[in-house]
Amino acid sequence: MHGPLRYITVTAPDGEIIGYAWGSADDTGWIHRAASSTDAFRAGVDWFGRIRDAHRRGLTPAGVLELFSHEPGVGPVTEAPDMKAIEELARIVTPADDRRLVDQLVPAGHPAWTWLAEAYDSLTDEDREVVWDRGGGTPPDGAVQTPVPVYSEQVQRVLRALQDLGAVTEEYRWMGHPLPEVPSAGHLAPADAVRAATALVCGERFYPGLIGDALHSGLLDALVLSLRAWHAEPAAEGASSARSGRTEDDSGRQAPAVPVPVVAPRTSGSAPRPPQAPVRCRYCGGSPAVDVSFRAHRGLLLLLGFRRMDGPMCRMCGLGVHRALTTHTLCWGWWSPLSLVLFGPLTLVRNLLAVRRVERLAQPGPGLLGRRFDPGLPVHRRPRAYVALIPLVWVVCLIVAAVRAGG
Ligand SMILES: [Zn+2]
Repeated sequence: MHGPLRYITVTAPDGEIIGYAWGSADDTGWIHRAASSTDAFRAGVDWFGRIRDAHRRGLTPAGVLELFSHEPGVGPVTEAPDMKAIEELARIVTPADDRRLVDQLVPAGHPAWTWLAEAYDSLTDEDREVVWDRGGGTPPDGAVQTPVPVYSEQVQRVLRALQDLGAVTEEYRWMGHPLPEVPSAGHLAPADAVRAATALVCGERFYPGLIGDALHSGLLDALVLSLRAWHAEPAAEGASSARSGRTEDDSGRQAPAVPVPVVAPRTSGSAPRPPQAPVRCRYCGGSPAVDVSFRAHRGLLLLLGFRRMDGPMCRMCGLGVHRALTTHTLCWGWWSPLSLVLFGPLTLVRNLLAVRRVERLAQPGPGLLGRRFDPGLPVHRRPRAYVALIPLVWVVCLIVAAVRAGG
């Protein structure tokens, strides 16, 4: 694939990036975001079909991107220097991805936690010595005997407990990723522990001996200890998982509905953390960037529409997204009773809080991916924003009328 590519970013209604549709001079394609949820992955399969069909019907690649860029949840057509740059974007793992994996774990009171603790604590050195069954006896003529590892009952109890805990989950597509390694500090973040448990238990069926290797390398120990530490103190460990992600500041995100209360991060530095990569803008790759979400709301009688775009975003992209979504809300966010009194104002206030964090950022350095969002005109210079005056005037008139009628 030579020459620059163009692409669009496709986002699910809940704000999760599903993947990227690209177009070159003569072809189109789709790249799934590697860490996406199963729902997003399935949606991505649909998107891939739609893009391929549009191209087959005779639209040029540029035409396909242009067509789909107007759909809800799809970003503007953007240029990338090459395919690697888009693949790089698709590899970004967000704190929300980490949280989704940790959310798969059963709550603290569940007996599976005891099963794991009991099974793991009673592992002996013998259990760690994996025996390979080479078939024994004389194989029938022509049969090929493949040796299979035989894990002790104790090891199998640990593996079963990991499954009962929810640490083996289809929310992690282990096949597309290398096996997590034990970091030099020996401490795995809880989300990485779920990744490792999933890859080991599922991968063993395809690569017999994987679990035996993990018993020797310390990976199995690291993941069990990480899960148990999370179980002992889910709130703090959950927060530390988010901190170890690509973004440093997670306070602007909406916490999912999980029994993980948000607490102040622990200040005691237990193990030195490896230096973190700078936070990069999800849309253009520029830095500095901050993890924020912007929202848009549309209310039309009974039809309520919500849209959310997640960061990390640099100053330019953040301003661009803020101005577009806020103007949309000012124009469309009033036309149902709930929207007027609740969702419209709430969306605007949240966007204002988020944009203040973006405005504090310095101008981003050159992006990895060329073009970034154009912030465009400020909201107050966009005529559509003044549609908001209509419901405002109407409410004032209602109040005045009510006061007069009462007086
Ligand atoms: Zn940016």
